[in-house]
Amino acid sequence: MNSTGTIFAFLQCSKCGMQFSKKEIHNLSSCCSLPLFPRYDIEKGKVYFKKDSLINRPPTMWRYKEMMPVNYEENITTLGEGFTPLEPAGSLGKMLGFKNLYLKNESINPTGSFKDRGMSAAISKAREFGLNKISIPTAGNAGGATAAYTAKAGQEAFIFMPDDTPKAFQVECEQYGAHVEMIDGLISDCGKIIAERKDQEDWFDISTLKEPYRVEGKKTMGYELAEQLNWELPDVIIYPTGGGTGIIGMWKAFDEMEKLGWIGSHRPKMISVQSEGCAPIIRAFEQGKDTADFFENPETSALGLRVPAAIGDFLILKAIRESNGYALTVSDKELMDNVKMIGKHEGIFSSPEGGATVATLPKLLDLGVINSKDRIVLFITGSGLKYVDLF
Ligand SMILES: *Cc1c(COP(=O)(O)O)cnc(C)c1O
Repeated sequence: MNSTGTIFAFLQCSKCGMQFSKKEIHNLSSCCSLPLFPRYDIEKGKVYFKKDSLINRPPTMWRYKEMMPVNYEENITTLGEGFTPLEPAGSLGKMLGFKNLYLKNESINPTGSFKDRGMSAAISKAREFGLNKISIPTAGNAGGATAAYTAKAGQEAFIFMPDDTPKAFQVECEQYGAHVEMIDGLISDCGKIIAERKDQEDWFDISTLKEPYRVEGKKTMGYELAEQLNWELPDVIIYPTGGGTGIIGMWKAFDEMEKLGWIGSHRPKMISVQSEGCAPIIRAFEQGKDTADFFENPETSALGLRVPAAIGDFLILKAIRESNGYALTVSDKELMDNVKMIGKHEGIFSSPEGGATVATLPKLLDLGVINSKDRIVLFITGSGLKYVDLF
């Protein structure tokens, strides 16, 4: 086996800081029942992992493999995810009155969304531990990504999705050879079924932030933004938030890069957008709370945002507040209308979640949270193709 050169050192509870061995299989922390974060030997990184190390690396998220948790090259399960384009959105920006607008185009990932990043990391690590049966509750995209990466790794996938999820998501999972169950309920109900059955079935649960490694895949979006902007982070990041792995991951990446000496202390304002029909994080932000209440009767066409409760709520809220950011809702009509704006002006067919980011721009300008000259990155988190029935 060939070492990846990782400087992964240990796992740490994201709440109380308790440390755990990286050699054991973990889901949530045993101290607080909250997410665990991989931590790295930064002093070693300063010597062995420099910005120059990236020259000639392949254009995937694994170019940052020293700061990823996988020990052996042979376990890296990749379909070419990550290092997605950061597209200047000149036409869209001009129409809306912004001079430095960029789209991080995650729609071109192997299964059409940024979920591929998380799954590439989590499935690689599961492979390293010899775990062969993987289960996940999904609003759609996480299922497709899990099915694809488990197929590539030679594992079995057990996928649970709400029965009103568009057919494309189900068909895709089945064509990757996964077991799919359609559930009369929400993603949270799918999660409960897995929790009940996983021990008996010997499934490893890779629900959002309930294992420590998906967030490491998602954090690479933060590394890429820095690298693509010549190591100067943007002023503003607008992110459609469901379980929040992306925001949490990028916030972690910025911290790591500063410690490595790759960037300074400037941080983007982290802006979280949710749909009016499911906005637990926005409510908590507005009420000044540190955690979010369950959002009853969630409803939105932005399926990735139909997450009524997020186990990482406190981490999302912390990133928003520490960054001097903001959290706001848009209506489903606004987010769907803006999919067309992105398509018409920039030639990218975004999923509804991506449309939500554009819909926030006039509101944030009115509120004085952003200004027209800021360097702003909108996350187009997925492709619209699997959502066509919803338009
Ligand atoms: C899952 C998903 C989201 C939400 O992402 P989190 O990082 O879990 O907040 C947004 N957009 C799309 C397309 C998704 O699939």
